[in-house]
Amino acid sequence: MSDSVMNLDGQEVSFEKGETVLEVARRQGTFVPTLCWDERLDPYGSCRLCVVEVEGRRMPASSCTLHAEKGMVVRTGSEKLRRMQSTLVEMVLSENPDDECPRCRDLGSCELHDLATEFKVGRDRFLGATSNASKDDSNPFLLRDYDRCISCYRCVRICDEVEADHAITMTGRGWNKGIATAFDGLLMGSECTLCGQCIYTCPTGALADKKMVNQGSIPGEVEVTRSVCPYCGTGCSINLHSRDGKMIGVTPVLDGPVNAGALCVKGQFGFDFVNSDDRLTKPLIRKQGELTAVGWDEALEYTANRLKSIRADHGRKAFYAIASGRAPGEGAYMLQKFTRAVMNSNQVDNCSRG
Ligand code: SF4
Ligand code: SF4
Repeated sequence: MSDSVMNLDGQEVSFEKGETVLEVARRQGTFVPTLCWDERLDPYGSCRLCVVEVEGRRMPASSCTLHAEKGMVVRTGSEKLRRMQSTLVEMVLSENPDDECPRCRDLGSCELHDLATEFKVGRDRFLGATSNASKDDSNPFLLRDYDRCISCYRCVRICDEVEADHAITMTGRGWNKGIATAFDGLLMGSECTLCGQCIYTCPTGALADKKMVNQGSIPGEVEVTRSVCPYCGTGCSINLHSRDGKMIGVTPVLDGPVNAGALCVKGQFGFDFVNSDDRLTKPLIRKQGELTAVGWDEALEYTANRLKSIRADHGRKAFYAIASGRAPGEGAYMLQKFTRAVMNSNQVDNCSRG
């Protein structure tokens, strides 16, 4: 037997050095439920949902922390495992205060409700106390409803391991367990950069995009369109969420080639300008003191004539061009070419230059 072969549900499968059993199983398309796992984070093993049976071991083991080994024999889908997993999901779900998850309404689903559907369980059988944790603070972007928190630590870990911000941590024990900032202050007063990454790793409705939730009154199905953020030249991949032709929010694309699931506060929460009535949709020229909408031909001719007269009256050094960081590389190249070759000026710069 090769050094990198194990047995998964009766099939010989190969694995890479250092791979976990969960990673091998996912690569094979085998269903193994998880709630605390995120491929961007170090394995944590807290939700215990990914348990598998390993030949020679008395107790099931969590597959996200178990490294694949030569000759290992693993079973993933026995009736006993499914009973354990289904009961775990049911218990976790019973701590939710209700079924009205804002995240399910606006993003389509959350991982917890997807698993509840998969295992056909509800929150009623173990219904009891809920944590009554804090619902919110004054920040304008992140809805924080810790009544729905299942203590998976994914938000804390992504803030530490990916964003390297260390803005939040887990505090307390039992019903008093919760996510807090340093000295239990407000998120806005903490180290948080409002990147929103904690929202999109959270497997429940404990964290959500406040702006998106506030658009809840717009009727209809949510449509998702993949696009590229227009805010700067980095070009992060984003999903635009819209209802009835109106944008309601943005989510990061997890396999985005530039950003791998990360966005900055502008790309994440700064989409409102799209729906603004103040947005310019036509060129404006000031006529008799009033800004007046004109066609593109008139606007371009006016601009060309003004540039010509400025150069004639004040010389080439009167012209200075700054390219927008939102312009693509081709646009920036054209601007410097125009500045040098047409206006005979070397005064050209880009706002992205630090
Ligand atoms: S928004 Fe970003 S920085 Fe703020 S707590 Fe969440 S992950 Fe950390
Ligand atoms: S807020 Fe969400 S991501 Fe954070 S610990 Fe709770 S359930 Fe997990």
